[in-house]
Amino acid sequence: MGNITSKQKLLIHRLLDQQEASVLAVLARDGELRSAESFGELAPGEGSEGDRPFAQKTVTTNLVMAMDLAGELDQIAQARERLDTGHYGTCIDCQEKIDFDRLKARPMERRCAHCQEQHAKQLAKSSISPSAI
Ligand SMILES: [Zn+2]
Repeated sequence: MGNITSKQKLLIHRLLDQQEASVLAVLARDGELRSAESFGELAPGEGSEGDRPFAQKTVTTNLVMAMDLAGELDQIAQARERLDTGHYGTCIDCQEKIDFDRLKARPMERRCAHCQEQHAKQLAKSSISPSAI
């Protein structure tokens, strides 16, 4: 409790707003890409790597990305809730304080660097890799 100052809290709120706006923008763009019928339009001039089905790969990547982004929006909402309830900035795994620089870089972060590393390893094993945003 009380891990961050009210000034830091304001900053995080602003960062969450920005993050949300950019996620929504990417989602909107992704929707346009998926409605495009031609694969050629999706990957202009980038299919030069020989026999690789690059355009098909791009479509798959977009779908995976959209799923990631939906998760991001959820995380943003949760981060706001934690800010309001005073639980923000505490690692959900080890209960240690999360470094504020880390929170600034990724405001919806719920884990300290160490626990996130462990978590990412588990995620990589079980499903889609965590978002690189
Ligand atoms: Zn931790």
